[in-house]
Amino acid sequence: MEKAVRNTMTEFWKDHSKQATVEEMMLDSHARELTKEELPEILALLPSLSGQRVLELGAGIGRYTSHLLTTADHVTAVDFMESFVEKNKEVNGHHSNTVIMQADVTKLDFPQNRFDVIFSNWLLMYLCDEELKSLTERMLGWLRPGGFLFFRESCNHQSGDCKRDFNPTHYRTQAEYSHLMTSANWEESEASETFGFDIVLTKKIQTYVKMKNNQNQICWLLQKVPRSSATQGGFTTFQQFLDNQQYTRRGILRYEKIFGSGYVSTGGPSTTEEFVDLLNLKPGQKVLDIGCGIGGGDFYMAKTFGVEVLGLDLSENMVDIAIERADAEKMPLVHFEVADATKRSFPEGTFDVIYSRDTILHIDDKLALFKRFYSWLKPGGRLLISDYCCGEKPWTTAFQTYVQQRGYILYTPPQYGKFIEQAGFSSVRADDRTAQFIQVIKAELQKAEAMKDDFIKEFSEEDYLAIVNGWSEKLQRCNTGDQRWGLFYATRD
Ligand code: SAH
Repeated sequence: MEKAVRNTMTEFWKDHSKQATVEEMMLDSHARELTKEELPEILALLPSLSGQRVLELGAGIGRYTSHLLTTADHVTAVDFMESFVEKNKEVNGHHSNTVIMQADVTKLDFPQNRFDVIFSNWLLMYLCDEELKSLTERMLGWLRPGGFLFFRESCNHQSGDCKRDFNPTHYRTQAEYSHLMTSANWEESEASETFGFDIVLTKKIQTYVKMKNNQNQICWLLQKVPRSSATQGGFTTFQQFLDNQQYTRRGILRYEKIFGSGYVSTGGPSTTEEFVDLLNLKPGQKVLDIGCGIGGGDFYMAKTFGVEVLGLDLSENMVDIAIERADAEKMPLVHFEVADATKRSFPEGTFDVIYSRDTILHIDDKLALFKRFYSWLKPGGRLLISDYCCGEKPWTTAFQTYVQQRGYILYTPPQYGKFIEQAGFSSVRADDRTAQFIQVIKAELQKAEAMKDDFIKEFSEEDYLAIVNGWSEKLQRCNTGDQRWGLFYATRD
């Protein structure tokens, strides 16, 4: 059976590798136009390759090989079709840092920790689940700890609508790929340490969205991390913890009902208008929103000030909703991606503003994060953050339990401001905005009570109680002095 599948596979590619051209390999007659825009888009998402050993799987005729080898220390490019390998050798074979080999990835093996980066474009979709699982485990072994796997696939929109083409493709949804990749484990034989993949970013290839109105070209960047320490509340990854615990789709929508349309943070549109005003945004400026949630603040900034916004959030549920809204509102200035702010990287000086609302409470190493922000900002760039903070310890038991259940990492507003300063920022303003926080909570409680029937109709009595009780407890936590809210503003000079 397995052999029969491999044979169809080989036959299919034998048919499609006769001329060894881009068109044939991409199964698309507009291949050249597409590839011109798409190639730089994809290369820009890779981590820095300088000094790195790269493995390219399913390299085809070497469209990517030619680029990878210019910055990487070494590239091993693998494909199982002879004519593709020949063509790749013809174009790239003379580079001394490149090995081009003919092999089937389902049978391939390399020594442990051999590569820093593994790259593949349109490969995993040609493997069945079992083959993919096995390859993922082996890739975990071939990568050094901290190494990266990048891959891009044609996906389908919803699980089950498997429109089998003429080609033997295993269409999967974004969620299915994410799940398959993050559930794989690999045990280092000597150290008996277990490793897995965490998501650095997942996003739609914008070239396909723009040129073909195709939303199903999706790419991932994953990082090899130790598994044991990374578990959070019984979930394998922190992303799963967020998506299944605090930010289920229902949880998000009921938060939105009380915070205001588009928002999942204190004060919704009102605090957003007030704080964004401090930024004096100009058309064409580039804003990065860390933990963008469902994007309300991003739509507001783009619509009101004509800025370009990239919203990133680790929760897939959040970004799914944000993208649905962006499609409905036709907002070309706003883009979203699933990404981990602690792992994603951008070139030095990419943004004019970094903006983050009630998000960094989820992130442990704030100093390291602020250092990253500093480097991503242009000189003169500004940082604006609102976040949950705390009072000096000791805390009440109730507050300790709350913080622990949520997995939050909180500091007092002055401590928080210090981290921003230590990261290199100037003119740091660290305001304790707890009084405003309390006012907002009271107003939101009143609003919830006023729309009780409506709320219960849309959700349920239980959801209503969860919100109202949650907000009352939040007030109590502020009254004991434990819970605080901070507003931070700083510049990179
Ligand atoms: N800023 C939005 C959402 C606030 S909720 C608003 O104002 O409406 C906090 C958000 O932080 C959640 O959407 C959560 O998924 C996101 N988040 C938590 N940890 C993150 C990380 N490491 N990287 C990116 N986003 C993260």
